[in-house]
Amino acid sequence: MNIAFALLASAIAMTAIVGLRYLAASAGFALATRLRHPGLYAGLERQIRKEIGWSLGSAAIYGVPAGIVAWGWQHHGWTRIYTDVHAWPLWYLPVSVLLYLFAHDSWFYWTHRAMHRPALFRRYHAVHHASRPPTAWAAMSFHWGEALSGAIVIPLLVFVIPIHVAALGLVLTVMTVMGVTNHMGWEIFPAWMWRGPLGAWLITASHHQRHHERYGCNYGLYFRFWDRLCGTDQGLGRFEHAARGSGAGPVPDPGGRIAARDAGD
Ligand SMILES: [Zn+2]
Ligand SMILES: [Zn+2]
Repeated sequence: MNIAFALLASAIAMTAIVGLRYLAASAGFALATRLRHPGLYAGLERQIRKEIGWSLGSAAIYGVPAGIVAWGWQHHGWTRIYTDVHAWPLWYLPVSVLLYLFAHDSWFYWTHRAMHRPALFRRYHAVHHASRPPTAWAAMSFHWGEALSGAIVIPLLVFVIPIHVAALGLVLTVMTVMGVTNHMGWEIFPAWMWRGPLGAWLITASHHQRHHERYGCNYGLYFRFWDRLCGTDQGLGRFEHAARGSGAGPVPDPGGRIAARDAGD
C-alpha cells in the first residue's frame, strides 16, 4: 500500500516536472518568436490551445514511467545512473550523452516512420500534424498512443547505458530545447550552423519544417543519419514568413530565410 502511494506520488511529481518544463520552454521560445517575428502565430490561437492540451496530456504519459524509474533509482538502486563523476572515465561523459541522443534518435526515426503508415497515422499521428504550421507549443503535441512510444525510451535506456546524473540532465535539456525549436517556425541557430557541414548531419527547425510540409520524409529527431541512410532526407524546408518576405521583422533575418536547398549530398 505504501509502495503504491510512493509510486503514485513519484509519478505525479514527475508529471508536474515534465508539464512545467514544457510550459516554461514553450513559453520562453514563444516569447522569443513574438520578439523576433511579431505576428508569426497570429490567427493560430485555437490551434495553440489544442497543442497545449495534447502536450499536457503527453506530460502525464511521460511522467508515469519516469516517476516509477526515478523512485526505483532512489530507493532500490535501479538503473545505471551514477552520481560519482569518477565512477567512469571523464571522456565517457560526452560519449554517454551522444549514445543517448543517438539511441533516442534511432528509436524516434523508426517509430515515427511507422506512425506514417496510413492506419497508425489516422489513429495517432494525425494529432501532431494537425499543427499547420506548428508552433513552439507543438513540442509535445502527440496523441496519447504516440506519446506512449516516446515515453518509454529514456526510462528503458537508463537500465542499459550508464550515465552520470548531470549528463542525463543535459540529454533531457537537449530533448526539450530541440523539441520546441524544431517546431517554432524559424531558425534560432546561426545560419553557418544549419547551412554548413554541421547542418548536413544535425536536425534543426528547417529540416523538421519540411517534414511538416511533405509528410513522407525527414523523420529524424536530432541527426540526419537515418534519413540519409534510408533515402528519406529531402533537405531543408521553407518557412512561410520567409517565402512571403514578410513578418520577419524590420531587420532582414538570414536565420529566418530558408533557401530551398538539397540535403547537401
Ligand atoms: Zn513535428
Ligand atoms: Zn510525422
